[in-house]
Amino acid sequence: MGTIKYPNGEITILWKPERCIHSAVCVRTLPDVYDPGRRPWICPEKATTRELTDQIATCPSGALSIEEQEL
Ligand code: SF4
Repeated sequence: MGTIKYPNGEITILWKPERCIHSAVCVRTLPDVYDPGRRPWICPEKATTRELTDQIATCPSGALSIEEQEL
């Protein structure tokens, strides 16, 4: 399925669905950003870039990562 990209204007969240173990750590940490019942399920504009990068570091599977935007 590859990688799905969710940009917020500063950074782009990369999500690899086949890696996600659905631990919902992301959903508990930033429920406004991550909502499995919504499409798209990730809305990166609902948190600051700092909040996103801190939270993405806690994803246990490595499904979430950050692609730096070229300035
Ligand atoms: S924290 Fe990572 S592994 Fe857990 S549900 Fe979110 S994306 Fe998937």
